[in-house]
Amino acid sequence: MSAFAYRDGELCAEGRTLDSIAREFGTPCYVYSRAALETGFREFLAGCSGRDALVCYAVKANSNLAVLDVFARLGAGFDIVSEGELARVIKADGDPKKTLFSGVGKTETEMRRAIAAGIRCFNIESAAELDRLDAVARSMNTRAPVSFRVNPDVDAKTHPYISTGLRDNKFGIAHEDALPLYRRAATLPGIRIAGIDCHIGSQLTETGPFVEALDRVLALIDALAVEGIAIEHLDLGGGLGIRYRDEVPPSIGDYLATLFKRLGSRKLSVMFEPGRVLVGNAGLLLTKIEYLKPGEAKNFAIVDAAMNDLMRPALYDAWHDILPVRQRAGESHAWEIVGPVCESGDFLGHDRPLAVQAGDLLAIMSAGAYGMSMSSNYNTRPRAAEVMVDGDSVHLVREREHIEALFSGERRLPA
Ligand SMILES: *Cc1c(COP(=O)(O)O)cnc(C)c1O
Repeated sequence: MSAFAYRDGELCAEGRTLDSIAREFGTPCYVYSRAALETGFREFLAGCSGRDALVCYAVKANSNLAVLDVFARLGAGFDIVSEGELARVIKADGDPKKTLFSGVGKTETEMRRAIAAGIRCFNIESAAELDRLDAVARSMNTRAPVSFRVNPDVDAKTHPYISTGLRDNKFGIAHEDALPLYRRAATLPGIRIAGIDCHIGSQLTETGPFVEALDRVLALIDALAVEGIAIEHLDLGGGLGIRYRDEVPPSIGDYLATLFKRLGSRKLSVMFEPGRVLVGNAGLLLTKIEYLKPGEAKNFAIVDAAMNDLMRPALYDAWHDILPVRQRAGESHAWEIVGPVCESGDFLGHDRPLAVQAGDLLAIMSAGAYGMSMSSNYNTRPRAAEVMVDGDSVHLVREREHIEALFSGERRLPA
């Protein structure tokens, strides 16, 4: 059973109607289901049972403290890309010793903070970054654990903006540079070689590219072993896709079974960094129709959510299902679902057949991943409230922003 379903013509989140949530918390409002979050994470745990494995939730997909809290309580590790995300993990009682630090541009301060927090591993993406980490760790009289993010040069067959495993993008270390870099790392007094990692892209809907990447990384591990460089852990990144429309991605269980089968009986600790697949379909964006503006060529439904709340349609031309919160009898018309922001790219969906009236509520589905975490204050729009449903209860997990707070850090010029 899905966490979001109709009951008597009313769209519900677990035991609550979305209508009651809109009345209590206003719109636009992100609504998450605790049950859906837990179900996804438990599928990962089940798929890893009997293996030496660590599932590190990729915080950037949805970094709300309540979401991190749900995963931390289930024993999750975390994959972070900034000291801000590290602070969130610590605040949510996540375990730094199960935390990986990814990203191409770590600053010295970030390295220092992460070493002080005792994180599990730095995923290194360049020779220059390795040198900086070595210097920082030595200045702290310690050795920093590292893994190199190798770029296996496989085509993830996903949107170019979220494909990261090809030779010509900014991520990772070219396959042929990996061996020399590991050799160098082995000589650095501030570095301890811990693992190897890859992450080839996001919203992958086939296992093929994951397997291809795994094979290349395993070949590297073997080449390193020949040189006496031992790898403790293999981090296979994130990237497993979800169904937004008609995609048929492998289930979490099938994805893990395929990869573990390929790994065979190798003595490696395995890590994963799933983001989207754990949160994407566990959240929706609740919005109200402000105006209907029927036209000659197109009919516009102007809603109170916009590209600043959910950027994916504007950024990737992403498709999100849009459902009426209350099903109405009557004729459907095709609507352009647009926000109030002054950009033609400010749309949430094109050409959606809906029977709606002004004042109706709509649910933008599959908005739990890269929704709120990519939101902005463009047009000086306060960010939406976020709530988490847990059975019949609803918890406010981030209050709607106040307008004054949006410019509280700004200053007028001296008189
Ligand atoms: C974004 C990212 C992830 C998570 O990707 P999803 O597609 O959301 O699973 C994992 N690892 C790294 C290094 C990332 O940049």
